[in-house]
Amino acid sequence: MLSHGRIRRVMAAEGPGAETEVDDPSRLAAWLAAEDLLQLVERGRHRIRECANGHCILHFFDTSQNGRRRWCSMAVCGNRAKVSRHYERTKRTG
Ligand SMILES: [Zn+2]
Repeated sequence: MLSHGRIRRVMAAEGPGAETEVDDPSRLAAWLAAEDLLQLVERGRHRIRECANGHCILHFFDTSQNGRRRWCSMAVCGNRAKVSRHYERTKRTG
């Protein structure tokens, strides 16, 4: 996919910039996704992780300071885990 596009540096009136060029406009979204993945791998391959929710297919880039994020989204998968733990606790205690 990456061979179907490139970033071309330009000097505009406003200053230096960059333009994305692709062989075929229908490849632009896929090329940008591949380019974004490269940037994440460069920033830290070990920070790309699977969500800890076994029913979730998403991966995320962990930007937390301690590098211990577990969920793709605290509002969705993190909350489900919290509710599930709470349910298990209350079921046991009665
Ligand atoms: Zn998830």
